Amino acid sequence: MKAQAVYPWHRSALQHIKTQLGEDRLPHALLYRQRNDYFDTALGWQVAQLLLCEAKNGQDNCHHCRLLAEKSHPNVLFLDVFNKKIGIDDVRDLEQQMWQTSVFDKAKIAYISGMDLLSIGAQNALLKTLEEPPKNAFFILSVSNLSRVLPTIISRVQRLRHGRLEQHTLLHWLQAQLNTTMTEAEIGKIAKLADFAPLRILWPVNARLQRWQRLWIIPKVRHNWHVIAAIPKV
Ligand SMILES: [Zn+2]
Repeated sequence: MKAQAVYPWHRSALQHIKTQLGEDRLPHALLYRQRNDYFDTALGWQVAQLLLCEAKNGQDNCHHCRLLAEKSHPNVLFLDVFNKKIGIDDVRDLEQQMWQTSVFDKAKIAYISGMDLLSIGAQNALLKTLEEPPKNAFFILSVSNLSRVLPTIISRVQRLRHGRLEQHTLLHWLQAQLNTTMTEAEIGKIAKLADFAPLRILWPVNARLQRWQRLWIIPKVRHNWHVIAAIPKV
């Protein structure tokens, strides 16, 4: 299995984590604001990979990297609040599991995706663990709306901020993904229409997502048909 590719727009955030890890000053919890198709769930998994990978880079295809790629690493407890109803009991259950001995002598990670969607009661339960975490515990929290997060939680975590993505870096990445001879100017038009969310820009070329083309992309690009028409079919 190939090592997971790191998106160029995640690089600066991951480099920051790597530096902190190398200097042994990584706090035990971090939080980032999820922006769909830009700073997404993959970022949390990549952070987990840095913490668990034998080479600490996620590129060596070690046992931990492979388990993470299959989303079955026993040291990672993942709660997907975006897509599943998660209540206070689930958070308490997670807390208990964090205290149990882990299979591998490495960090034990609680990754809560969509943490801001937890009820206040569930957030308070989480806060208790954040205040007195078990040894080797690490928390990755992603949120869509920071204002829904208890300020007491925010004060206990490190905020991971979006790195600035240079336009030409984005365009080169898109050119490679689309395997196209489209010019930067043409790709730039699509990028702008998709609010520079790199993964969203790929939607129009994915045949399975033709519905989205109709509902979202096409109404916005009436005046740019020649751009969409230039995208190769896959
Ligand atoms: Zn590895």
